Amino acid sequence: MSGVTLRLDGERWREHLRTVAGAAPGIVPVIKGNGYGFGLRRLAEESAILGADTVGVGLPSEVAVVREAFPGDVVILNPWDSSSQLARELTEEPSVISTVSRLEDLKLLAARGDRPRVLVEVLTSMQRHGISQNDLGRAADLLPGVRFEGWTIHLPLHVDGRYAEAERLARAALGVAPGSLWFSHLPSEETVGLARQLGGADGDPVPVRQRVGTRLWLGDKTSRTTTATVLDVHEIKRGERAGYRQRVCPADGWIVVVAGGTSHGIGMEAPTSAKTVRHRAIAFATGSLAAAGLALSPYTINGKKRWFLEPPHMQSSQVFLPAKEKPPRIGQEIPVELRLTTATVDCVAWT
Ligand SMILES: *Cc1c(COP(=O)(O)O)cnc(C)c1O
Repeated sequence: MSGVTLRLDGERWREHLRTVAGAAPGIVPVIKGNGYGFGLRRLAEESAILGADTVGVGLPSEVAVVREAFPGDVVILNPWDSSSQLARELTEEPSVISTVSRLEDLKLLAARGDRPRVLVEVLTSMQRHGISQNDLGRAADLLPGVRFEGWTIHLPLHVDGRYAEAERLARAALGVAPGSLWFSHLPSEETVGLARQLGGADGDPVPVRQRVGTRLWLGDKTSRTTTATVLDVHEIKRGERAGYRQRVCPADGWIVVVAGGTSHGIGMEAPTSAKTVRHRAIAFATGSLAAAGLALSPYTINGKKRWFLEPPHMQSSQVFLPAKEKPPRIGQEIPVELRLTTATVDCVAWT
């Protein structure tokens, strides 16, 4: 099949998943967005194979597809939103845990009388969502009205001061109400260490859970390749025009049309200037592609990243290859570098 392909060494990938899961205390695989390039359903299946009892999704709308393939609990990571009907309905589901990040929302849920399952989010230095340290006591007063599943602490990726912040917030939260601690972006060793450090005098660590997305699904780069099919090749002479925008080609060479464009999430590096007529004249005189305002593409041909002739379109891109190079064959697969958290591939192939 022609298109953009993610080829996966399934054995190797699953070995990596098992290694990460084995080291992560109470792992909660995170499955959201584009499914980290693999799709939500596939990751739900893999989480079940891994033996996870709980997975995390970002949004209420992601719960249904994940539940089709995963039999355990699903925690919704984005803050519960009282204005969303789906979010309200899901709090009635026994296998769904909602994250509550505002005192008013906790009040609403606690007053309902059916004790929905909730995690309560503590505001971190991310300054994204959560109840501030000063208000944790008021949150604790509301917990008898819900089924309290624990505190959630989402740390920045930044390393400096991370452990100290995790410890400080965990102590503040446990000081007002005991519960499990659900961490994001705290490495396994630090999570295990902190659980021990916060443990009681009896030596039992506090229960902790680690939520992992990128490092789990995409952490082993050696288990995958991403390629795109060459759809067409045309010879072009310096000074001839090509593309939607009819750009003047700055050198002799080939236009290689490859699968993959904006609909696959293939963007482009910032183009260099070449805005003025004078710049374009210099570019033309020197045959410099960068000076011509071309942008480097994520496609590799003959071992080198090549330049886009112009910004990518929906499903294909035009890449320039200098005349001295041997052009690829139509139908050939060439490497393409994808950011899998934003990419949509046409096919995931297992090898
Ligand atoms: C998305 C998300 C994660 C997973 O993030 P990665 O960087 O992909 O591991 C973890 N925790 C929370 C709260 C999230 O929203």
